[in-house]
Amino acid sequence: MKNTIEREGGAPVRIPEGRLLIDGQWRPASSGETIPVFDPATEERIATIAAASAADVDRAVQAAQRTFESRPWQKMRPLDRGRLLEKLALLIERDAEEIARLETLDSGKPYFVTRNVDLKFSVDALRYYGGWSSKIAGEYLALSPFFDDGGTYRAYTERRPLGVVAGITPWNFPIGQAIQKIAPAIAFGCTIVLKPSEEASLTTLRLGELILEAGIPEGAINIVTGYGAATGQALVEHPLVRKIAFTGSTATGQRILASAAAQMKRVTLELGGKSPTIILADADLDKAIPGAANAIFPNSGQVCTAGSRLFVEEAIFDEVVRGVAAIAGELRLGNGFSAETQLGPLISARQIERVSGLVESGIAEGAEPLAGASREERQGYFYRPTVLKNGRPDMRIAREEVFGPVVLAMSIRDLRQIKALANDTVYGLGASVWTRDVNKAHLLASQIDAGTVWINTHNILDTAVPFGGNKLSGLGREFGSEAINAYTETRAVCMRLEAPELE
Ligand code: NAD
Repeated sequence: MKNTIEREGGAPVRIPEGRLLIDGQWRPASSGETIPVFDPATEERIATIAAASAADVDRAVQAAQRTFESRPWQKMRPLDRGRLLEKLALLIERDAEEIARLETLDSGKPYFVTRNVDLKFSVDALRYYGGWSSKIAGEYLALSPFFDDGGTYRAYTERRPLGVVAGITPWNFPIGQAIQKIAPAIAFGCTIVLKPSEEASLTTLRLGELILEAGIPEGAINIVTGYGAATGQALVEHPLVRKIAFTGSTATGQRILASAAAQMKRVTLELGGKSPTIILADADLDKAIPGAANAIFPNSGQVCTAGSRLFVEEAIFDEVVRGVAAIAGELRLGNGFSAETQLGPLISARQIERVSGLVESGIAEGAEPLAGASREERQGYFYRPTVLKNGRPDMRIAREEVFGPVVLAMSIRDLRQIKALANDTVYGLGASVWTRDVNKAHLLASQIDAGTVWINTHNILDTAVPFGGNKLSGLGREFGSEAINAYTETRAVCMRLEAPELE
C-alpha cells in the first residue's frame, strides 16, 4: 500500500505502518494476518493494520507487567509521570494538523472537527491528568478500638495503581478515546495495553510514534490492533490484566463484564445510549431548535450521548420539529477535507445498513419522515440527516440505539409524563432539558435517570466532569477525580503505637 494519500486542503496524509507496538518495538502480527482499512468517504482501500493474535496480546501484556513491576516505574516520581503526559501533549500539538488529517481520512469526520474538537480535547485530557499525577492522596484516621491494651491505634490509606490496564476503544472518537484511557492510567501509575477499534486504528498508531518520541518507558503503553472477537477477547481474558477500561456497545460491554467476573477484574464500561432532548414550551426556541439539531447530527449521529429522542411540549411541537427538519435539510454532507462539509459519512457499509434498517422499521411502524430518511446517492457511506415525527415509545427506533443522524420526535401533552417518557429506556447516558424556568430545569434534571443531564445545552463534555452511564449505558465513571477510583485501589495500613515515656 502507498504510505501517503493525497487529499485536498493540505499536505499528503502519511499513513503510519500497520504494526503492533509491543515493549517499545514495532512488529507485525505473529500470524502475518492483516485487516484492510477503508476511507469511509470514498470506500477506497487506504491501508492495512495488523491483526494481533492471542500470542501477540500475551507479549504485550507481559511487557506491560514487566514495566509495571520494574524498579524505574515503581520509583518514578508522580510529577515525572505527569511530565511524560505533558511531553506527549506537546508532540500532539506540534503534529496536530497532520494527525487531524489522518483522523479525517480514517473516520470520515470533518477536518474542522478533528482539528478543533478531538485533538484539543485529547491534549486537554493529557494535561488534566498530568496535573493529577502528583495529587493522589490517602487519609489519616484515628481508630477507636473496643479494647484498651495500652496502645494507640492509627491508620492511613494510600491509593495503589491497579497494574496492567486493558484499554479498548470504539471508532467514533478514535484518538480522543485512546487518550482518555492512556492519560489516567499513566498518571495514576498503571501501565496499559490499548486495543483500538479495527474500524479506525490509524491515529492510535500515529500516537504510538509520539509515545516513543516522548520517551515514555518501553512497555508502559502498548498498542495491539485487531478484531474484537480475537484480539479484544484475548486481552480481556489475559490473567495479568487487572483492569478493563472499555468504551463501546452495550452488547460487547456485557460480554466483557461476564468474562471479567472470573478473575474479579476491575471494569469501567462506557456504553450505548438513547438520550432524550426535552424542550418545554417556555424554552428560547432560537437556541433550543438549533440545540436539538446539534444534539443529534454532529459526527453524523455517531455519538454515544446523541439526543436521538426529541420530546417537545405539544404547544410548540410543530414549530420545533419543522425547525429541526429545516436544519437537517440544509446540512452539507461531504468529504471531511472539504471546507464546505458539515457532516461526514458513517463509518462503514455495515453501519449504513443498520441505520437504514432502523429508519425503515420506524416508518413501517408509523413514524413520518420530515427530512432525510435515505442514503445519499454518491460514493461513500453517507446517510442524510433524518427527522421522524409521530414517534411512539414502543417503536423499535425509539428503543434501540441507532448511532446515526436520526432523531425521533414525540409530543408531550402533560409535563407529568416527562419523567416516565424520558426514563422509558434501558439506557441512561445523557439527557438535555431546554427551558427558561429554573425550577423546572433543576427538578426535571433530578428526575432523569442518566449519568449526565444538560440544561439549555447538550453534549458538553469536559475532562474535569465525571462522565458515564446508568442502567445499560455503563458501569463506573471516567473523567474528573472519579478516575482515581477507577485506576487505583485503596490500601489501608493500621498500626499500634506505644511509647510509655511519651505519655
Ligand atoms: P463495539 O462494542 O463493536 O466495539 C468497541 C471495541 O470493542 C472495539 O475495539 C472492538 O474491536 C472491541 N470488541 C468487540 N468485541 C469484543 C470482545 N468480545 N472482547 C473485547 N473487545 C471487543 O462498539 P463500536 O461499534 O466500535 O462503537 C459504537 C458503540 O460505542 C455505540 O454503542 C456507542 O454508544 C458506544 N460508545 C459509548 C461511549 C461512552 O462513553 N459511553 C463513547 C463512544 C461510543
